[in-house]
Amino acid sequence: MIKSSKKTEEKNSIKKSRVVVSSKEVVEAEQKIRPSKIDEMIGRKQEKRAIKMMINSAKKRGEVLDHILFYGPPGLGKTTFALAIANEVGCSIRVTSGPAIERQGDLAAILTNLKANDILFVDEIHRLSRVVEEILYPAMEDRALDIVMGKGPSAKTIRLSLEPFTLIGATTQVGKISAPMRDRFGLIQRLDFFDNEDMVEILKRACLLWSIRIDEEALLMLSVASRGTARVGLRLLRRVRDYLESINGKEVSTDIVEKTMKLLGIDDLGLENIDREILRVVYFNFNGGPVGVSTLAASVSEEISTLLDVHEPYLMKCGLLKRTSRGRVLTEKGIRYVESIYGE
Ligand code: ADP
Repeated sequence: MIKSSKKTEEKNSIKKSRVVVSSKEVVEAEQKIRPSKIDEMIGRKQEKRAIKMMINSAKKRGEVLDHILFYGPPGLGKTTFALAIANEVGCSIRVTSGPAIERQGDLAAILTNLKANDILFVDEIHRLSRVVEEILYPAMEDRALDIVMGKGPSAKTIRLSLEPFTLIGATTQVGKISAPMRDRFGLIQRLDFFDNEDMVEILKRACLLWSIRIDEEALLMLSVASRGTARVGLRLLRRVRDYLESINGKEVSTDIVEKTMKLLGIDDLGLENIDREILRVVYFNFNGGPVGVSTLAASVSEEISTLLDVHEPYLMKCGLLKRTSRGRVLTEKGIRYVESIYGE
């Protein structure tokens, strides 16, 4: 029999409550920072206009909002849009993700629990299995659920009708969405990297909400290092705030941003160690390319999906790397970048 002393129990409970408090704090900080309304979202003028028009005309016709697919690299606002749309429509939203729905029964349970006009948000929708996808087709198109009862020749299909609902899908790899699934979305919206102006606004808004004082130049420097990605910018801002607190500073200056970036191994362009390693490997191991994505991923010990979703899009946006039919190739600018760092 194991007897735990009172002291150990107390210690454990303190530890547990600390963990709970800190994670709650992080969640609350995230919730506070995520714009809850479409109009609170920075930038995205065209996207916001298109979506608001869809919502308004659906309301006018008394119909449910059409299905929407968002695609683009992580951290650019796909989830934020889905939550803000639910707010604008005034409905409930059920949030799940492709890998979380393993069997047809899981999806059937979610769909039958949706109420009229509810939104189902499926993150990483490209990771739904084919069998689960098949249930989704009639659900999206005819608001119906086909359930197969029994097996073999005596199997019967029963069709259940569902409440009208809106599916919002999000994906980082739109090419992996099957054509029949793509065709069933009423709007397919790409979310691109934010430009510097919008990144500055996103960071300014966060500084206000988190009570961080920052000078204009530091703000600009931070926005350039944010890779045009809201989530990255907000993460950097939190690290800059840590640095400021560690030196008991009052206001973030360019000097503090520079020192934090150095500590994190991030350069002026926002490139991290792994980005530089990718460029270095293409240059030195593959003579500047072309090199296939799986070989490249193995060479830098990174997942192919991370390379495809996170690193490549930004390296391409910076004009350092390009995709060709034969593989990844360094651009002139990419060659100069590697040579300036590693010499040649
Ligand atoms: P994704 O779902 O594309 O990975 P999220 O929607 O979770 O990205 O966005 C990441 C973070 O960026 C959110 O916490 C949100 O605060 C912020 N964000 C995204 N888009 C905007 C925007 N247009 N304006 C302000 N903040 C934004």
